[in-house]
Amino acid sequence: MSNLFNLYRNSWEYDNTLPDVFGRARQYNSQNSNVFTPVISNEMRSRGFRPHYPDGKKFAVCVSHDIDHLYLQQNAGRKLINAGKGFLKGRFGQGWGHLGSMVRDSVHNEYDLNNLIDINNRHKLRSTYYFLSLNRGEEDFNYHPGKIQDQIRAVVRNNNEIGLHGGHRAYNDFPKLMQEKKLLEESTGVKVYGYRNHYLRFELPTTWNNLQKGGFEYDTTLGYADTVGFRNGMCYPFLPYDVVNNRFLDIVELPLVIMDATLFFYMRMDFDIAFKICVQLIEKVIGCGGVLTLLWHNNFISGEMGAFYIKLLKFLQSADPWFATSLELVNWWKEEKLLKQSQEIIQDIFKAEITLQDKD
Ligand SMILES: [Zn+2]
Repeated sequence: MSNLFNLYRNSWEYDNTLPDVFGRARQYNSQNSNVFTPVISNEMRSRGFRPHYPDGKKFAVCVSHDIDHLYLQQNAGRKLINAGKGFLKGRFGQGWGHLGSMVRDSVHNEYDLNNLIDINNRHKLRSTYYFLSLNRGEEDFNYHPGKIQDQIRAVVRNNNEIGLHGGHRAYNDFPKLMQEKKLLEESTGVKVYGYRNHYLRFELPTTWNNLQKGGFEYDTTLGYADTVGFRNGMCYPFLPYDVVNNRFLDIVELPLVIMDATLFFYMRMDFDIAFKICVQLIEKVIGCGGVLTLLWHNNFISGEMGAFYIKLLKFLQSADPWFATSLELVNWWKEEKLLKQSQEIIQDIFKAEITLQDKD
C-alpha cells in the first residue's frame, strides 16, 4: 500500500480500533505521523502546482464559527431573575447603580453574533457560520433556528455564509441530516451548501456519501479533534476518496486545520505555545499557497480566548491572504479549474507510487 495514497484517503480510519467517546478517530492512533506538515500539498507543489487567488493573494484563509450556543430570551430572563435574587441577598449596600449594572450585565449577551461580526468586520474578513438545526429535547439543543431571525439577518447582512452544523446524530444518519438541512433552510430562508458536524463527528466514507447525496457542495469537518494540523496531509480543498467503493467522490472537502478547542482543551497548550504552533501551521500553508481553515466558536471571543483570536487575526492579516467564506473558496477552486488540476496531479502521484511498488 502506498504511503501518500494511504494518507490522502485516511485508509487506516476505516478500521477505527480506538475511537473516543464520540466515535472519532484519534491522531495518536493514526498513520499520519507528520500531522503538522501538509505532506501531500507539498508534494503537489514540488510537481509544479501553483494555486492562485483573487488580487494576486498568495494563500487563502477561511474563518468559520460553529454556533453551539446562542442568545436566548429565556436565558436572559433567567439571568435577570438570578441577578435580582443576588441583589435581594444583601447587595443593597452597593446601591441602585450597582443593581443597574447587574441588570445590564444580565441582559447583555456575550454570545450575540453581532459581537463576533463586529470583530471580523474590523479585521476586514467575512466568515462562515455553521448553525445547529435541532428541536427542543435533542442532545445539545440550545436554540431553534426558527427563533433566531435577528442573528441570521445580522450574519447575512454582513455578507457572511450560513452552513449547517450537523447535530450528534446527523453524521451517519441520512434522514436526520436531511431533516436538519430542511429545518435550517426553511427557518432562515437561506439555501445551505456547506457542512460541519458538531464535535467533528465523522464516519468515512458515510458522511461524505450522505452529504453528496443530500446536495451539499462541501464539508469542512475533516480535522482531528485531538490535534491541530493536516489530517490527511492536505491544505488544499480536495475530492475525497471512498475506500469502500474505490472511487473519488463528487463533494469537496475543505480540511480543517485549527480549532480553538483543540489548542486549549484537547492539547492543553498555554497561549504562547498555541500561538507558535498556529504561526508554524500558517507558514506551512503559505508555503504551498494553500487554505488555512480556522474554527473559532462564538462563545470564545471574550477574555484571554478572545484576545488570542484577535492576535491570530492580526497575524493572518499581516500575511495578506484572501479571506473568503468557505463556499466562495470552494467555488473559486472549481471555477478556476484548480480542483481539476489538483485532481490530475494527485492521480499522477498515486499512479507513480503504485508503479514503484509493482517494481518492488
Ligand atoms: Zn459544535
